[in-house]
Parts: sequence; C-alpha cells; structure tokens
Amino acid sequence: MDDQQLLRYSRHILLPQLGIEGQERLIGSKALVVGAGGLGCPAALYLAAAGVGRLVLCDADTVDLTNLQRQILHHTGTVGRPKVESGREALGRINPHCRVEALNLRLEGEALDEQVAAADVVLDCSDNFATRHAINRACVRHRKPLVSGAAIRFDGQVTVFDLRQPENPCYHCLFPEGQDVEEVRCAVMGVFAPLTGIIGTVQAAEALKLLAGCGETLNGRLLLLDALAMEWRSIALAKDPACAVCSASPA
Ligand SMILES: [Zn+2]
Repeated sequence: MDDQQLLRYSRHILLPQLGIEGQERLIGSKALVVGAGGLGCPAALYLAAAGVGRLVLCDADTVDLTNLQRQILHHTGTVGRPKVESGREALGRINPHCRVEALNLRLEGEALDEQVAAADVVLDCSDNFATRHAINRACVRHRKPLVSGAAIRFDGQVTVFDLRQPENPCYHCLFPEGQDVEEVRCAVMGVFAPLTGIIGTVQAAEALKLLAGCGETLNGRLLLLDALAMEWRSIALAKDPACAVCSASPA
C-alpha cells in the first residue's frame, strides 16, 4: 500500500481484526457481484469503498427510472444506459484503486463457470430462481463462498453458503428446485427502498469478512428481516444429505 492507500483504509487498519494484513487481503481479492440492482448496488459500493481490489459486476439490464428509488449506484443521468456501466462509473468515482469489470450480460453457462472459478467470493444479488440455482451450482463445483441475499416488499433474507467446506449446506439444500415456488418480483410486489440497502450491505459485510478471514460468518444461519416491524430472526440451516447439488458432488 502507498501513503494514499494507508490513509484511505486507515479506519480499517485501526481494527485489530483487520489491520494491514486484512486490508492487503482485501486489496488482493476478487469479488463477483451478480446483479447490479437493489442488492448489488449497495453491496458493490461497500466492497469498492472498502478496498476490494477487483470487482466483476454483472447485469444484462439498463437503468430504468423505476430503479432509482433504491438502486443507489445509478442516477437520473444514467437512465437508459447499461446498469454495469453506470455502476462502474459510480464505483470508479469512489475508489479508483478498485478495478471494476462490467459484464453487460445475463451470466450463465460457461461464462458463469469461468467467473465463479476466478472469484474469491460470489455475491448473489440476482432476482430470479434460475440464476440463483445456476450460481449455487457453480459455487458448489468450484468450492467458492456464496453470499446470498433477497428482498421483496418489507421482507429480506441473507445468508452465507461457505462451500469451501463440503460439510456446509448450499442454496439448493434450503430451496430445492422444482417446488414451483412462485417467483415474486419487485416490479409486481413492490419493495421498500432501504430494505435492499440493509440486505445488500449485510452481504458486503459478510463478503469482506470472508475475504479478510475475520469473524464469524452467516454460514449455517439464515437471517430474516421483517422491516415493517424491524425484527430479525435467525434460523439454523442444515445440509440436506440427499441434496441433488452438493451431496452428489464427489467429496
Ligand atoms: Zn445442497
């Protein structure tokens, strides 16, 4: 770190759990953020501001006026432009040391596999089950820690699937596919603006701890937030020994 970086990150360096070593680990890390919407925006902002060295931001959509109520990387002037470009500019203004790769596509197949393999941590900030399951499968395959968040109406949930250890549960253990869970979307149901900020920021916190190697993560616990009552609940998660995704993979 040069003098400017020592100053920029001084409030992290003061924390004994992080220190110079932890900060250097952040600088040397690469995070994959899938989705540059309500969750991805605050998550990416904190990862970039906190000094994560490389960030891959992935989203196929363009900025829409209805996004601006909560997707805080974007602004009135970037309406109509790809979210990842709008996001990269905003992140660059906050921290030019963070190298942001903007992928303006729906990450799937081989591209998803490549990106997950190259990342140190994966943040699922997507808004549909197909993408969530695809990200989870790739994270199980490559044994990458997955930070998963969701927010709709006033309800949020967030957890970590630390798939570096094969005994830990995966997303599919919790939400098996084919249960025909009805997909609820912000476009139809609405979403409370700061709820996405709260959940996305918890995702950033968990990702930073995973990268720096400090503290305890949400692995094995699902946090549920009722933002209307402002009440958090914590539910223990267990691995499904019959899970078709993580238990089928060779140990
Ligand atoms: Zn599983």
